[in-house]
Amino acid sequence: MKTTRITRTILFALLVLSSVAGCSRAKTETAVIADIIEDSVKTKVKFNDDDLRKRLTKEQYEVTQHKGTEASYSGKYWDNHEDGIYSCIVCNTKLFDSKTKFESGTGWPSFFKAISTTATKNISDNGYNMTRTEVVCATCGAHLGHVFDDGPQPTGLRYCMNSASLDFKKR
Ligand SMILES: [Zn+2]
Repeated sequence: MKTTRITRTILFALLVLSSVAGCSRAKTETAVIADIIEDSVKTKVKFNDDDLRKRLTKEQYEVTQHKGTEASYSGKYWDNHEDGIYSCIVCNTKLFDSKTKFESGTGWPSFFKAISTTATKNISDNGYNMTRTEVVCATCGAHLGHVFDDGPQPTGLRYCMNSASLDFKKR
């Protein structure tokens, strides 16, 4: 009995780990990303926590405010091919253009660049025993996802984003 329980615990831990690591099957970050990493983010806008809880879904709140990750292939935008703009679900700042979206095969909406160099900020993330680069909204600090260096040209970057952090509007 005891062995079964331990095995179950290990299996569960592995499941959790693999889902967390899902977005990070990439190589290690290069200088291209490291150059723009900031230690902390000074955001321009701060929202009231109670208001955010009311306004956002549970998943949107967890992902944007507590650095959560939606399950791959579960979000509403990984397979969205419409022409338009993706904005921050929290503060409505424009973050990504559908023209830079590509098929990453990860189950998360992926872009090779942000809409502008000031729209997002990169932060060093050493959680879960991995070195990754977190991407947040530069305006409100909402967690968006991570950026990796295995993306397509012209940038070679892969912004692996959560649908829960984004709000899409057709052009
Ligand atoms: Zn924002």
